[in-house]
Amino acid sequence: MQTVAEQPSAIRRYYEGLAEGVFRAIRCQACGKHTFPPTGCCEHCGSWKVEPVELSGEGTLLFATHNIFPACHPRFEKIAPYVYGHIRLKEGPIVQAIVLGVQATPADLGRLFERGPVPVTAEALPMDDLPVLAFRIHD
Ligand SMILES: [Zn+2]
Repeated sequence: MQTVAEQPSAIRRYYEGLAEGVFRAIRCQACGKHTFPPTGCCEHCGSWKVEPVELSGEGTLLFATHNIFPACHPRFEKIAPYVYGHIRLKEGPIVQAIVLGVQATPADLGRLFERGPVPVTAEALPMDDLPVLAFRIHD
């Protein structure tokens, strides 16, 4: 049996999956809900009885806006200006992430607002260091 120190962390497994386009989460065996990004226990009921699962990558964009200069972290300066939003995953969790397929302009954001909630699909955005979770808007 591996000690805790020998087990790859949930965060490491998350980023390793993300680099391969796999979106890892955990599902609680007590309440059945998903936690994303994955942690060691259920964020809903606190149970440690969780199992690793892969998410579909499908979701719905609920809200989108653009960053305000400067970027929130130097690693995002190369991709600024960018759009980010709140996405409800098909499996339930709501995440904040970069949104692809829309320009960070008032006109494009206005058209997106007029469309209402839109379907999106997860992608891993390559960066110089760790990949970043992003969601692309469907046409
Ligand atoms: Zn739970």
